[in-house]
Amino acid sequence: MTEYDTFAEADDLGPAKVVHITERRTGLRAMVVIDNVAAGPAIGGTRMAIDMTTSVCARLARAMTLKNAMAGLPHGGGKSGIVADPKMPAADKERLIRAFAASIRDLTEYIPGPDMGTNEATMAVVLDEIGRAVGLPAEMGGLPLDELGATGFGVAEGAEVAAGMLGIDLDGARMVVQGYGAVGHHASRFLAAKGAVLVAVSDSRGAVVDRSGLDLDTLDGVKSRGGSVADYPGGGAMAERDEVFGVECDLLIPAAGPDALREDNVDAVNARLVLQGANIPATAEAEAQLHQRGMVTVPDFVINAGGVICGAVEYGRGTRSQAFDTIARRVRRNVEEVLTRSLETGETPREVALDLAHRRVRRAMETRRWS
Ligand code: NAD
Repeated sequence: MTEYDTFAEADDLGPAKVVHITERRTGLRAMVVIDNVAAGPAIGGTRMAIDMTTSVCARLARAMTLKNAMAGLPHGGGKSGIVADPKMPAADKERLIRAFAASIRDLTEYIPGPDMGTNEATMAVVLDEIGRAVGLPAEMGGLPLDELGATGFGVAEGAEVAAGMLGIDLDGARMVVQGYGAVGHHASRFLAAKGAVLVAVSDSRGAVVDRSGLDLDTLDGVKSRGGSVADYPGGGAMAERDEVFGVECDLLIPAAGPDALREDNVDAVNARLVLQGANIPATAEAEAQLHQRGMVTVPDFVINAGGVICGAVEYGRGTRSQAFDTIARRVRRNVEEVLTRSLETGETPREVALDLAHRRVRRAMETRRWS
């Protein structure tokens, strides 16, 4: 947690604030990075992971600044992390979340939401404690974004636009999904509804491949009984979960943790389109290599904005259909704008998206006295 040097790392966009939190009674260790608030209070998830670091938190906070700007939301970007095992007993987890929420009570320019290791129920506890959070359960007036599959829906909408631009027919397109959680599961579902076929999938405990197509209902049955995707009946389990990256496909969707694609495994990738469902799922080197080899990558903050758009619509007291309409419209528009310019100029999609998002953040910053 101490490896991050705020002043050395800061650039002209942020971070505006980096806060480290310890709480003696609960043993809480946490961090909040508020990257930029020019467009409005920062929205970004609270991640609970045993290996959470400030530098990962800061990279994710920047991704939120860019994502929120890209999506045209009246919110800046931030992120928080709790260094703990999310699988701890529920009562201990609630105590930790309450301690965390109480510690950020006065950090009003940061609005937490769900992320890996946290969920709608966690956000209900945060709301109860401090009166602000997004991604709430439906019974509290929320639009439960992971239950509704907001991000996976956006990934599928963006995938449709990107596939169309590259001449890939989604009907029968082979997809590989790394991580079968909220994002990976719903992206698979929404894309399957458009005709795509899931040929390989992984989770934290294993991976399974079937080039003739995995049945999603069977897979969901296995998962709902507490199994791993590797327990899929009929075989096809892979020895290593990262072997999914080497399965030939049209659409590859990394939807687990950061830096999943790295220099040491990116060589194996054989996809036409990489849709970054997860945040920062590839190192810069890995992403550059994919581009050089002619694979088109749609960056995280362009394609996985569905969740935060849903959260922002919820925060503005909008409805589910308003949220889904907004996700479809904005993600589709952004994917088209980014890929059109990238294909015309040869810039990577990330270079184009960064340029567009930076311009939007800087325009917002020009209107502020302090930024
Ligand atoms: P989740 O906890 O619901 O699911 C994560 C999945 O990844 C689980 O199936 C887990 O078993 C699997 N996994 C973990 N490590 C793995 C590994 N090394 N290899 C293969 N699978 C692994 O989380 P989520 O909400 O689906 O989020 C996934 C990613 O998407 C994260 O990077 C998150 O920041 C990002 N994201 C989520 C949302 C959202 O709305 N939930 C929005 C934008 C971005």
